[in-house]
Amino acid sequence: MKKTLLFMLGMGMVVSSCTDGGKQTEVKGKDFEYTVDAFADLQILRYQVPGFETLTLQQKQLLYHLSEAALMGRDILFDQNCRYNLAIRRTLEAIYENYKGDRNDTQFKALDTYMKRVWFSNGIHHHYAEDKFLPEFSDSFFTQCVMELPTEKVPLREGQQVDQFIAEIKEVIFSPTLLAKRTVQSGDNDIIRASANNYYAGDLTQKEVEDFYAAMKDPKDNTPVSYGLNSRLVKENGVIKEKVWKVGGLYSQAIEQIVAELEKAVPFAENEKQKAVIQTLIDYYKSGDLKTFDAYAVLWVKDTDSEVDFVNGFTETYGDPLGMKASWEATVNFINKEATKRTKLISDNAQWFEDNSPIDDRFRKKEVKGVSAKVITVTMLGGDCFPATPIGINLPNADWIRRDHGSKSVTIENITEAYDKASQGNGFGEEFVWSDTERDLLKNYGFATDNLHTDLHECLGHGSGVTLPGVEPDALKAYASTLEETRADLFGLYYIADNKIVELGLLPDKEAYKAEYYKFMMNGLMTQLVRIELGKNIEEAHMRNRQLIARWVYEKGKTDNVVELKQRDGNTYVVINDYQKLRDLFGQLLSEVQRLKSEGDLAAGKKLVEDYAVQVDHTLHAEILKRYAKLNLAPYKGFVNPVMKEVKNANGEVTDVVLDYSESYVEQMLRYSNDYSFLPTYND
Ligand code: ZN
Repeated sequence: MKKTLLFMLGMGMVVSSCTDGGKQTEVKGKDFEYTVDAFADLQILRYQVPGFETLTLQQKQLLYHLSEAALMGRDILFDQNCRYNLAIRRTLEAIYENYKGDRNDTQFKALDTYMKRVWFSNGIHHHYAEDKFLPEFSDSFFTQCVMELPTEKVPLREGQQVDQFIAEIKEVIFSPTLLAKRTVQSGDNDIIRASANNYYAGDLTQKEVEDFYAAMKDPKDNTPVSYGLNSRLVKENGVIKEKVWKVGGLYSQAIEQIVAELEKAVPFAENEKQKAVIQTLIDYYKSGDLKTFDAYAVLWVKDTDSEVDFVNGFTETYGDPLGMKASWEATVNFINKEATKRTKLISDNAQWFEDNSPIDDRFRKKEVKGVSAKVITVTMLGGDCFPATPIGINLPNADWIRRDHGSKSVTIENITEAYDKASQGNGFGEEFVWSDTERDLLKNYGFATDNLHTDLHECLGHGSGVTLPGVEPDALKAYASTLEETRADLFGLYYIADNKIVELGLLPDKEAYKAEYYKFMMNGLMTQLVRIELGKNIEEAHMRNRQLIARWVYEKGKTDNVVELKQRDGNTYVVINDYQKLRDLFGQLLSEVQRLKSEGDLAAGKKLVEDYAVQVDHTLHAEILKRYAKLNLAPYKGFVNPVMKEVKNANGEVTDVVLDYSESYVEQMLRYSNDYSFLPTYND
């Protein structure tokens, strides 16, 4: 629940797609090509790794092995997202590599696009909207392609015939109703049964799952493990049990490879603390014991001296409708020392921010512990951080570890920089921003306020406030992720306009914050809707949170005309009339959201989300989509990784590690499927 995704449509962060009838044109930065590929609603960018060459050989070798470990678990995420994903990916790749017909044929091109989308989403459901996307090739074309494959290339189940396989897989790919949605977050149906992901099996009901975990919990336990985090829950012959993801358990074939690379990384650790971090993670992967996971998380959060750092494991729980089971993800990085001076200023003043936030004293943290914040440069992304990537991460997630040991918070600046560089001059601001006044604000301050808002959200927002004693950590159920992101965003919005920010030198003057306010409101009220299909509601937690905030302050500010939706030539624009009153409204909402988190007020949380965050204004939505379509931009972005290579001398000793930025999206994905694919097709 602690991952920040980019306001992909924000000004200054707007990324151009350059799609022209499906063909892609390359945008050049100074010397570096940031744009790699474009298809469907997606654009693939490349990030640079500035400063890599200046690291020591030991650091580079550590990064190398951690980066290999970051790629080893790719199949796990595919299988977690849906039990058919590996079968479909492998079938598509086999067709792609063995196809003898005309590759310019529209049917084959549609298959090519569908395969690229499956790679991007780590499965058959849209990475963000959660719906299953349907291919534009015909089912007879698909049948013919599979029939023409050598039988050993078809990922059959044991004893299955090719025609049986085709019948089974075709239904999964083409049926609009079967496995229609990866994760269903909304409250009233059985959200476990309605979700297509693979965290629960054997026809479990939501009530069975809730009862199973309720029975495990001890309400008096002050330091509970993250129940259910690293397992699939199944019902077999009437018995409900966990299948744990570990060496010797489910996903063992991939986890063994991760462990092997982590073991190679240990000798290159920068210090004893870091060595213990990696070693404990290995122990956890071997035992699957969640107590060991907590021990690892505590060691990890306390390791603030190392320059190289990483995340590797079952981490974020957005994909589970009940917020317990974690998807596998990995990032590998090193510190950006210059930019970290900014986040250090923020974290050094953490107590001041906590003491002055507009919340009830009962919910305030008396003593803010260990907010460690840094700006990092990533060298490899894997699992649920790839190809779509967060721009900030704040971990660990366990509330008691955050309470007793603090958290580590990062902003990934080589990613935000790539977004920014690839975005310049794409026409978005001209279309959606009200006037030159706002455009100038965004141009002058947008990049700075964007990064600062992320820092405040990550370093302070998530870590602020306390939950009252006796309130269950998962009291807010399916609404927890949205409300937690709401709280962190509001904390950032409230403070970015504070004089303290200018006093600390974090922004140049008292006007700058207005760039963030304008961008946030425009995005939350209007432009983020370009990522939603007409007629659909908002599902994703971050998008819900942004609309919740924007709609709430818009409604509450109506009597004072704080924010307006103005018409000009039949187009709608956001106009902010009173920035100070807008700040007050952000503060009021922060106070309420903190209250309902602290008290675990599910009814109020649910109402807030259902009233403001979910429904879309149909007329406005249609207008925004139409205006956006004219710009030919892709609403979602993701990245390819650099290729990291060891350089060896005649004796086979590693003398350097180098990065290569020339790999295409298709080359990278095929290479990963070839070199980093360890799981069987069916993991039952
Ligand atoms: Zn967040």
